[in-house]
Amino acid sequence: MKRILVVEDEPTILAAVVTRLRAEDFLVETAVDGPSAVATAAATAPDLVVLDVMLPGFDGLEVCRRIQAERSIPVLMLTARSDETDMLIGLGVGADDYLTKPFSMRELVARVRVLLRRMERAGDAGEAQTLSVGGYRLDLQERRVHHEEREIHLTRIEFDLLAFLAARPRTAISRAVLLEHIWGPPSGAESRTVDSHVKALRRKLGPDLIRTVHGVGYALETPR
Ligand code: CA
Repeated sequence: MKRILVVEDEPTILAAVVTRLRAEDFLVETAVDGPSAVATAAATAPDLVVLDVMLPGFDGLEVCRRIQAERSIPVLMLTARSDETDMLIGLGVGADDYLTKPFSMRELVARVRVLLRRMERAGDAGEAQTLSVGGYRLDLQERRVHHEEREIHLTRIEFDLLAFLAARPRTAISRAVLLEHIWGPPSGAESRTVDSHVKALRRKLGPDLIRTVHGVGYALETPR
């Protein structure tokens, strides 16, 4: 059984999420503020965290930073508005996916399952594999990116996006294909979610590696 920590200070949302996740056979822990979220994550080692952004104590961004500092753990961030989601993606805060309130419990469960599956896939990846593109070296097993000797820290989605494009260099990939392969069905993620993550990647990797293909999507450029 997978253990999920739900961090939410709004009692009705907390109760609804906890009830649904328990009905889906997850073990569920809860926290209602920043400090107790960090303490509970350390004490219970959850497989995934559902994390509200606005919390008493310190906010979800700080919770995310602190729990990610200990070990890599998938975080599904709950946001109040879609522009808040775009802003957080642009900041590259380290959450793996975002859900804007109000959301359906069905969608929440779908996102949780996608994140857990992706984590498992990463965990039982086979032999070490690396991709080299435009001076960047991607280790697909360790999910790390280096530029010369410097490590570039990417969120899980940023890594998946870069690895997908890097495996098909100089090929235009549509936003729909990226959404399907990286977010998985039925994520409910939108085209502009892809755009926000590309923007975050360009901030970390420079503006030239990922090219916008107008009317289609994106392509990874490599020096021939
Ligand atoms: Ca809140």
